[in-house]
Amino acid sequence: MNLSTEAPEVLLEKGYLNYEIDPTLDLFEEIEKLKKEKNAVILAHYYQEPDIQDIADYIGDSLGLSQEAAKTDADIIVFAGVHFMAETAKILSPNKKVLLPDLKAGCSLADTCPPDLFSKFKEKYPDHTVIMYVNSTADIKAMSDIVCTSTNAVQIVESLPKDEKIIFGPDKNLGAWVAKKTKRDMVLWPGSCMVHEIFSLEKITKLKNRHPNAKFIAHPECEDHVLKLADYIGSTTGLLKYTINSLEQEFIVATESGIIHQMQKASPHKTFIPAPPTNSCACNDCPHMKRNTLEKLYLCLKYELPEVNLSKELIEKSVKPIKRMLDISAQYGL
Ligand code: SF4
Repeated sequence: MNLSTEAPEVLLEKGYLNYEIDPTLDLFEEIEKLKKEKNAVILAHYYQEPDIQDIADYIGDSLGLSQEAAKTDADIIVFAGVHFMAETAKILSPNKKVLLPDLKAGCSLADTCPPDLFSKFKEKYPDHTVIMYVNSTADIKAMSDIVCTSTNAVQIVESLPKDEKIIFGPDKNLGAWVAKKTKRDMVLWPGSCMVHEIFSLEKITKLKNRHPNAKFIAHPECEDHVLKLADYIGSTTGLLKYTINSLEQEFIVATESGIIHQMQKASPHKTFIPAPPTNSCACNDCPHMKRNTLEKLYLCLKYELPEVNLSKELIEKSVKPIKRMLDISAQYGL
């Protein structure tokens, strides 16, 4: 197979290599072999399908994954997540090859903040510090002062002087929650995540009535009326830790349902109920995260495609706000 002529065309059209795979292959074994041969590491987000979480070398949320990408000594990083996460890994490890199983694994939240519009928005607030949630493109990060994740957003804001004027983007729900917690008045970019905005207040209320002992836990990307019902609000890692440390036995979980795999593994005797969305589904999956499959991951590692590349200039600009986030996180012991 001539990859040099065929692969780019396939990738352009599909976003991934769609070559046939021998159905008798044990993909877990094959991926393990390839990882050793190529000195590759697989970093997977909690929202990935269970098979991918199980084969990954490191599973985490955005903060943990960035920290891992910054320190790995592997030659190849396979990023099982969405595009902005692979970009962040490339920015932090520019000399490594960063692969993403499906280039079309995007993010509805990152898409709500296009660089041209954000640039005009920023011009209206020239004396403001820009704090940008990691769920944004490299171009947007390059226009920011500090990046944050949902794990460290509160501490990042609190690390700034009380009178500092702040723009927070792109997630307005996370921004409003952080503003409330820190008592800061921030200018919010009006973006949101399709997965976290679709939870049904009515169905959650009914579910809570049917499970009166269940703790309702939610990610801060959820809307305020959902957060008001929550017993605990936290990042994906925060939610996982809460379920591990809590003495309660039942949890209704309002975030992408992929995290429930790790919750169940860590606490097999506890019950986890995905919070229902407004549509007819019983749980809430991110269609972008779920574009990655074990098959795509295998092909991507085997052929080392698709690869995520960024210009040197963009890397130089976007690495500064990410490093600032990592430094502040380290100061807070996060
Ligand atoms: S869950 Fe939301 S924020 Fe996360 S990748 Fe999917 S669309 Fe983006």
